Amino acid sequence: MIRAASAAGPLFDAAGFVGRLSSLLPARRPLPLHEPSFAGREWEYLKDCLDSGWVSSAGRHVEEFEAMLAQRLGVRHAVAVVNGTAALHVALLLAGVRPGDEVLVPALTFVATANAVSHCGAIPHFVDSAAATLGLDPGKLDAHLGAVAELRADGPYNRLSGRRIAAIVPMHVFGHPVAMDPLADVARRWRLPIVEDAAEALGSLYHGRPAGGFGRLASLSFNGNKIVTTGGGGAIATDDGDLAAAARHLTTTGKLPHAWAFDHDRVAFNYRMPNLNAALGRAQLERLDELIDAKRRLAEHYRQGLSDLDDLAVVSEPANTRSIYWLNAVLVPDASARDDVLAQAHAAGLLVRPAWTPMHRLPMYRDCPRSSLATAEMLAARIVCLPSSAALAPAKPAS
Ligand SMILES: *Cc1c(COP(=O)(O)O)cnc(C)c1O
Repeated sequence: MIRAASAAGPLFDAAGFVGRLSSLLPARRPLPLHEPSFAGREWEYLKDCLDSGWVSSAGRHVEEFEAMLAQRLGVRHAVAVVNGTAALHVALLLAGVRPGDEVLVPALTFVATANAVSHCGAIPHFVDSAAATLGLDPGKLDAHLGAVAELRADGPYNRLSGRRIAAIVPMHVFGHPVAMDPLADVARRWRLPIVEDAAEALGSLYHGRPAGGFGRLASLSFNGNKIVTTGGGGAIATDDGDLAAAARHLTTTGKLPHAWAFDHDRVAFNYRMPNLNAALGRAQLERLDELIDAKRRLAEHYRQGLSDLDDLAVVSEPANTRSIYWLNAVLVPDASARDDVLAQAHAAGLLVRPAWTPMHRLPMYRDCPRSSLATAEMLAARIVCLPSSAALAPAKPAS
């Protein structure tokens, strides 16, 4: 999906790009990267929580939110929790990740993906990205496993570290789905469960099927900057009733159901989403199609407005996918062009952002196992994320 930038060099016209970007956007400055939109029944549902006294970690909005979410993801169960990191933490535990295991995660991701692995006492093992999706590259993953791993009775082991490899965590970067069919094939052959980090991709489709519905488990985030927000929040999604029940138990202090007794059968977490947050999320989910439509119109607006610029590639959805374009992004020729753009855009009140620093560059993850990360490094050096709030979309053409 990324056209190769032509001759890279110091001559990238950052001022020209920032001027063009500015001309494509409303006049308000500063213009944040992403703002939530509350134009539905948010007030009504929140007021219902206050009026009824149901504000905490039980209530009808939680149940309704979970049901709507499961339906949207095409899975049987969704368990709402306090944030996306907690969701991924519990999903990994339920997928069988144990202390001392390694978990395959992309180097190019938000730090929460790697942190959730660490919260299990496991070690992230960083793998490379595909330029076509920005997400985990199944072919390179397979070649890397072939080079470093051996299959034993309880799964693949990293021959270099001696540790078991317990799971694969694809992350759908900016809403663009990872190539899930080839990844599922690699996972099957290496007998590894897939746990999707679908935090950025609620509503995205791969071959017509929702992101977040492919893994044994998936995690979602409803942080304030995501397409649907609950203030802070997350969810675990799965088709498996036993895993869903275990997710509820593990996120509700391991409490045994009883009318009055406080009995708990394991060390567990207090991770359930409060009713207040679910009320907000329910109103947001009711508007998901409208929000996706706006984001896709904004992506098209950027594509049309930027694609004639030299040395610039506009990131677009991979083949056979329908992306929600959670964040719009462009690739500039190199890191120095990126830094020029970041500085000049911020000076102009356009709060564009780079991609995340790749995980293996962070001090706590520097010594983790990894494959070659050439594409992740290339992408991190060149990505600039553009203002992507749904409210920035041009008006719908009259029908
Ligand atoms: C937002 C996000 C999360 C979860 O973040 P929380 O703030 O904990 O909800 C996880 N992974 C990725 C890739 C994200 O973008």
